[in-house]
Amino acid sequence: MSPTNGPFYVATTNAHKVEELQALFGDAVSVQPAPAGYAAPDEDEPTYTGNARLKAEALVRQFGFPALADDSGLEVDALDGAPGLHTARWADTPEARLQKLEQGLSGVAPAQRGARFVCALVAVWPDGTSTTVEATVDGRIATERRGVGGFGYDPLFELPELGRTMAELSAVEKNHFSHRARAVRALLDAWALPVAPA
Ligand code: IMP
Repeated sequence: MSPTNGPFYVATTNAHKVEELQALFGDAVSVQPAPAGYAAPDEDEPTYTGNARLKAEALVRQFGFPALADDSGLEVDALDGAPGLHTARWADTPEARLQKLEQGLSGVAPAQRGARFVCALVAVWPDGTSTTVEATVDGRIATERRGVGGFGYDPLFELPELGRTMAELSAVEKNHFSHRARAVRALLDAWALPVAPA
């Protein structure tokens, strides 16, 4: 199935995420924020895809619209893959999460600072059919924060091929390289829809 009739409702209350997804989808797919009253489920599945599916299915159940949900996380090699599924809740605030990452990697050599962002996207229709994709972007954790763009862990996540952190990229560049951008391209590919120019 592909989304030719009407919008997808995104299982999030984060308006920034909906705007970013709309920019990534371009004209190919229209997305809307979840209606007021959307009750997000507990994200207690053991995979990103499982958690994204829980969120999309909850939205379909509550409103009967086609729904789209994402779940993402940061996996750091030197921390045995942490924070992983716990990325959003690793510490109480964005600043505390950055500090925890800096402290966790203090003294770790450059060659051991590998990491990746993972993004799962799940689309679910009211008849129960669904499409699932997962994408990653490989990088490394910088020894100091750089850049002011993006959000979350971006100032510490460096793309080796560019020598810049995600926070040093323009929005257009981030929408080309990010894990979410790659996942959206994979979804469009699965639906045989054109990829928006980045
Ligand atoms: P969620 O998928 O919205 O639950 O995000 C999970 C966590 O990953 C949050 O703490 C975000 O800050 C972090 N995160 C997700 N995507 C990015 C990104 O593109 N840059 C930096 N942090 C991100």
